[in-house]
Amino acid sequence: MTDSTRLYTNPQKLGFGLMRLPRRGLSIDIEQTKKMVDLFLERGFTYFDTAFIYPGSEDAVRKALIERHPRESFTLATKLNAAMVLTEKQAKNEFETSLRRTGAGYFDYYLLHSLMTNNYKKYDRYGLWDFVAEKKEAGLIKHAGFSFHADPVLLDEILTAHPEVDFVQLQINYADWENPGIASRANYEVARKHGKQIVVMEPVKGGNLANPPKAVKELFRKVNPDASPASWAIRFVASLDGILAVLSGMSNLQQTEDNTSYMQHFQPLNDEEQKAIQEAQRILGHSASIPCTACHYCTDGCPKQIPIPEIFHAMNKHLANGQTKEAKEEYQEVVDAAAREAKEPAKLQTRHMASDCIVCRQCERQCPQHIRITDELKRAAQTLEV
Ligand code: SF4
Ligand code: SF4
Repeated sequence: MTDSTRLYTNPQKLGFGLMRLPRRGLSIDIEQTKKMVDLFLERGFTYFDTAFIYPGSEDAVRKALIERHPRESFTLATKLNAAMVLTEKQAKNEFETSLRRTGAGYFDYYLLHSLMTNNYKKYDRYGLWDFVAEKKEAGLIKHAGFSFHADPVLLDEILTAHPEVDFVQLQINYADWENPGIASRANYEVARKHGKQIVVMEPVKGGNLANPPKAVKELFRKVNPDASPASWAIRFVASLDGILAVLSGMSNLQQTEDNTSYMQHFQPLNDEEQKAIQEAQRILGHSASIPCTACHYCTDGCPKQIPIPEIFHAMNKHLANGQTKEAKEEYQEVVDAAAREAKEPAKLQTRHMASDCIVCRQCERQCPQHIRITDELKRAAQTLEV
């Protein structure tokens, strides 16, 4: 099989996202990860997705996958992120570091990571498109692509400037299909216009669509009592044309079991199911939840080490389901946990609360969902700290 046919004939569409691996304390639970990897492969799936910036993930890939399975039995994607580095050299060094950490020898898929309006020019300035082309020429990269979080006009511009790109990774899910901030449908259509295959990220919207509002759950249950809400979300995107892989960020063995069970013998959504999705989109269009996917891109540089996604998770209990008491309890737990795990010296310790935010806005520059984090933290403080 040639490299290009391999790209276009991925046998099973589900991809294993390695961003939210199970944890034991502060470390990744390697033993559980091994079981998840083994089950995924046993059921005929092959696509694994990590990134230089996912903490511990590339090392976990080496231990759970690379050192335990024949290299040709799976495909591995990783990503170079220039947004958080200060020099071209640092950006390019990420490639060698990823090779060393994973021990993969080469990457089947290599992506420039998380291109957005405020950072894509840096990838040009650092010559990273040519850098990736050189590595591809050298056989160290089989297929080159980029992941993208911006509007369809910019996507069109980048794909026109870089026709050499093999594939694009986009955020597509049924909740964001017509959401102007994410533009799932419009970006999908631009990528297809350029003839690119698509890797889908956030099909379950960071887990939010695994536990949608009650009205959506009931709607799905009426049509198919046995299908989990997550299965609806993943099958929706896998039913689109031109999908190379649908990434699901799996966090435990049970999720791997569930995802692989309905994707092993994948059936596209039928007409009745498509109608139910349209109704769910209508319901969610009125949802007040914060659209955080828990990617944690915002937390690294926060001078106050505020657990932003965990606070938003708690806040969504109040916003989506009116569970204010539960939201307050969860909020207290997450700020206490952040204080326990904080790395700063004792005398500099802060409370890690929403109200500690100093509005420096470094987090907002990293957020692929374009959430007005400082406004939402202010709202969380007013609601959950009283
Ligand atoms: S704006 Fe607030 S939450 Fe964001 S990085 Fe600054 S202090 Fe942290
Ligand atoms: S606030 Fe934005 S950057 Fe932070 S975890 Fe949520 S989606 Fe990711």
